[in-house]
Amino acid sequence: MEGKSFFIDTTRCTACRGCQVACKNWNQNGASTTKNTGSHQNPPDFDGNTFKLVRFSEVEADSKVAWYFFADQCRHCLEPPCKDTIAGYVNDGAFVDEATGAVYYTAKAKEAPFDEVRTSCPYDVPRQAADGRLVKCTMCIDRISKGLIPACVKICPTGAMNFGDREAMLSMAKERLEGMKAKYPKAQLLDEDQIRVIYLVVDDPRKYWKNAIAGLKPGIIHRFAARFLPKGARGESGAAMTT
Ligand code: SF4
Ligand code: SF4
Ligand code: SF4
Repeated sequence: MEGKSFFIDTTRCTACRGCQVACKNWNQNGASTTKNTGSHQNPPDFDGNTFKLVRFSEVEADSKVAWYFFADQCRHCLEPPCKDTIAGYVNDGAFVDEATGAVYYTAKAKEAPFDEVRTSCPYDVPRQAADGRLVKCTMCIDRISKGLIPACVKICPTGAMNFGDREAMLSMAKERLEGMKAKYPKAQLLDEDQIRVIYLVVDDPRKYWKNAIAGLKPGIIHRFAARFLPKGARGESGAAMTT
């Protein structure tokens, strides 16, 4: 199961957005129509042209204003709910690459209902392109299958984004976490045992972004809820299957 993983150290992120631009360049995604929302975050959310998005949050931390940055993307879940949803409608619409663990969609994925695919993702990642395709980060499978690192990692000037063998990334993440804990008692890794994109944050993850950790949407019967319950609640009763 080893495959690859990212380690994204938000403490090193300066919100330069190089990763966001590199992702657009590599995937030949055009600019998104957008507007000023009073935030430096732009565009406001993922869209059919934006698979990587640096989210900006102004929050209160220790009675001061803090600015948190979260370079958001598909987490490449070890057991991806989106793939299961697509498989319920169409064969060969979504795959997990055996060598790397990358989760990617084919053109057939658009035969599955977009809203259902999107809702089944615990991180609200999939989007629909103008031509109807279901799209998201591919882990740059076309690069990594040739021995290159993902475009977003290649461009990152601060070391916030890292990519490599899963065990190496987990070790790097845990070592960095240990180094942070004395200064930041709330420092933590997010859902690292469920996904291949491991974030380090130093405060409540919801202060960074509401979907920084796996969430479940009210009113949805989520077949995969148990896998994505918050760490302390995993393994509790099946009642959590209905949210
Ligand atoms: Fe699928 Fe969402 Fe997991 Fe990405 S994060 S693999 S889109 S379920
Ligand atoms: Fe974009 Fe590739 Fe990075 Fe995914 S891995 S966010 S597709 S540049
Ligand atoms: Fe942050 Fe690196 Fe992305 Fe710049 S390229 S926004 S430093 S993760």
